[in-house]
Amino acid sequence: MRTDTGQVFKLEDYRPNDYLIPQTNLTFRLSPDATHVTALLTVERRDGVSVSAPLVLDGDGLTLKRIEIDGKKVKPADMLASPDQLTILKPPAARRFQLLIETELAPAGNEALMGLYRSSHVYCTQCEAEGFRRITYFLDRPDILSVYTVRIEAMRDEAPLLLSNGNPVDKGDLGDGWHYASWHDPFPKPSYLFALVAGNLGQLADSFVTLSGRTVELGIYVEPGKEKLAGYAMDALKRSMKWDEEAFGREYDLDVFNIVAVSDFNMGAMENKGLNIFNDKYVLADQETATDADFANIEAIIAHEYFHNWTGNRITCRDWFQLCLKEGLTVFRDHEFSADQRSRAVKRIAEVRTLRAHQFPEDQGPLAHPVRPRRYREINNFYTATVYEKGSEVVRMIRTILGVDVFRAGMDLYFERHDGDAATIEDFIKVFEDASGRDLSQFALWYHQAGTPNLTISSTHNPAAREFTLEIEQSVPPTPSESRKRLMHIPLAFGLIGAGGKPVDYSGVEGASVEDGVIHVRKRRHMVRFSGVTERPAVSLNRGFSAPVTLSVEQKADDQFFLARHDSDAFSRWQAFNTLLTDALISAFREILGGKQPAFAPRLIELAGGIAGDETLEPAYRALALALPGEADIARDIGRNIDPDAIYAAREALALAIGTANRDAFSGLYERLADREAFSPDAASAGRRALRNTLLDYLSLQPGGAALAAGHFQSATNMTDRAAALAVLAHRHDGSPEAIKALAAFETAYGSDPLVMDKWFQIQASVPGPQTVDTVKALTSHPAFSMGNPNRVRSLIGTFSSANQTSFHRADGEGYWFFAQTVLEVEKRNPQVAARLATALRSWRSLEPLRQAKAREALLSIAGAENLSADLRDIVERTLA
Ligand SMILES: [Zn+2]
Repeated sequence: MRTDTGQVFKLEDYRPNDYLIPQTNLTFRLSPDATHVTALLTVERRDGVSVSAPLVLDGDGLTLKRIEIDGKKVKPADMLASPDQLTILKPPAARRFQLLIETELAPAGNEALMGLYRSSHVYCTQCEAEGFRRITYFLDRPDILSVYTVRIEAMRDEAPLLLSNGNPVDKGDLGDGWHYASWHDPFPKPSYLFALVAGNLGQLADSFVTLSGRTVELGIYVEPGKEKLAGYAMDALKRSMKWDEEAFGREYDLDVFNIVAVSDFNMGAMENKGLNIFNDKYVLADQETATDADFANIEAIIAHEYFHNWTGNRITCRDWFQLCLKEGLTVFRDHEFSADQRSRAVKRIAEVRTLRAHQFPEDQGPLAHPVRPRRYREINNFYTATVYEKGSEVVRMIRTILGVDVFRAGMDLYFERHDGDAATIEDFIKVFEDASGRDLSQFALWYHQAGTPNLTISSTHNPAAREFTLEIEQSVPPTPSESRKRLMHIPLAFGLIGAGGKPVDYSGVEGASVEDGVIHVRKRRHMVRFSGVTERPAVSLNRGFSAPVTLSVEQKADDQFFLARHDSDAFSRWQAFNTLLTDALISAFREILGGKQPAFAPRLIELAGGIAGDETLEPAYRALALALPGEADIARDIGRNIDPDAIYAAREALALAIGTANRDAFSGLYERLADREAFSPDAASAGRRALRNTLLDYLSLQPGGAALAAGHFQSATNMTDRAAALAVLAHRHDGSPEAIKALAAFETAYGSDPLVMDKWFQIQASVPGPQTVDTVKALTSHPAFSMGNPNRVRSLIGTFSSANQTSFHRADGEGYWFFAQTVLEVEKRNPQVAARLATALRSWRSLEPLRQAKAREALLSIAGAENLSADLRDIVERTLA
């Protein structure tokens, strides 16, 4: 484990290295406890660099066995070697030389899951961001692009399959039970994209013919016997390849494309050139084991990693400060793909819910940072919702500002100009400036400035002057180390809506530049005057969520109800109803704190019933609309002095009120939505299941609810319905005979399937109420649980800490103490996963004072532990700062 050196890396300190490594030849002789890696590097001194410049290579816990330059042993006096660095003090005078380094590794003991490790006896690698330096000494930074040739030697019994990046070139027998395979990747790439897989795996094979007629062999490798569970992933891969040709003109470039699923993986998946490595959760699926959400995630992540081949691999990042260059852009691309494959409106609402749940709290708390950070202590901690999700929103805004055609021209220019480069955000913005002729310097602040901007908006109508005015004021709240903010360019899509939902015409507009339904907010304050407006319109704001901002709008409840019924923009219509629900929940929260029984407006309850039964709306949309705002979302909107128990009570009261008033209608609809045809994971079928399961949740609070959910559980023919019913039983009827029986039945049926058991852990970890702390503690000893496997840890501990507001924030602080101990236990094996878990306490300052004090104590207890890893110390110290 790398302990913290306290070093801070700064963007302004970037400079190219004195040396390049144009070619890298690697030979692996694999063995669980003593793998030998021989790296033969062609090293080249950059033009103009002094011959006396030392060559300093990165390492991380390495054991050096041999080192030679141009075939001669390097004398100890001519180098400095430690596990974490190798310095050649006097490199040869020649501009180019060959450096040979042999290291010895123990993949079986590598529990951090970075570098070369073993997962269920399969050798695999994870090198992003800085894992390659755990394999050999190297210039382990993304601007060092090298052509890799890799030879893998292994015992044939142990590893019949030997894979690396690029195309296969050679294979053969070595005698004594050993064999080898060689791979060559003609595209220069940074070390973080290196990959190796060796083991005994089953294959699902297919092929794809590209736009220009080349055939690409496709392979998905999984645990033997699970090949048939990879069918959906393969289908998603082929659709992704086709879509990228059509939407972005991007064709695949190698002869083979392989995906390997492994069960121990820190992240979702990794885009290594030609050899993607996946968390098996995002590959394996069938109706019996995967939910509709799992299918949608597989489709999105397969696409995401594939799209990286152009946005990330062919054009990579100059340094890790530019991470959003590949991630934000690629998330934008996978969102567009999913929108085209599914329902655009539903996809957009789901994206915004995710952004608000994950990125907004980050932006509003102690871990806030710009989409392109300027400094970091541990880069692993910057794989954040800000870099990914907000990064994607920024790309979306560029498209909104420039229009679809100019945006595409800019992307074409980006691929043409920077193919083969390690690029920067400045390069990316420049292509759009060049393609459009516009100055995007104010817009670029979205990359440089942290915090979620707020727009305060009010409106007035002057019937005599036939003038409608919007007063818009922007502000960006201060964030750590950025107290003063500059004014941003915010594209605010809007609509003026008159009686019956018709758009209201206006004859002119002044006070801001307004084009194609978008107000360009650039100044602190705009008075936007629309002339020729006879009737007072309702205003639909931030349509399609055109900018990732918060709105403070003075709007009459009548207008919100009107928009929730009539807005022609599906996102804004959803937003209007969601705002009404949130306002009602916040009022109920205050009533509960004041000792009163909350009451809800009958017209809100009626509207919920109306949306549920509105056959003109897609079922998936109705399901999203009826899903009440989450407890954490409500907490964020309240802002401070949070009492999670009162929020929970408010939410339950609203669910009960909606379900009671609409019981008969919901029951009838629930019956009509029952699946009568064979299972299909398509979006329309998934939408019907989602709506039916949402209705089940409401009906479960009504008399006979437990029996209804138990029947739903027993008659389920797919995992979506089964898991939904189990969650309803466990959450709404905790401790009931029906819940106990269903949990036991689920465990019996799926006890040997770890990915399905993750759902069982998740459902129990999210049961509301103080008792769940003890349940979760007990489940850490369950035979299917393991502190060493990231998926298990995330399902049980991650769900408990990030998705169980009442239990995690238990008033006596027991949830925090258990959490602090567990984070430290996970850290001993896997600092990266521990650091990610620890972010669950980032919003601790918004809690009411007693919980706040207890959360702080727990954070201090983590901070005070000995030998903290760089990963965990960085998160905890920033959270406490
Ligand atoms: Zn990515």
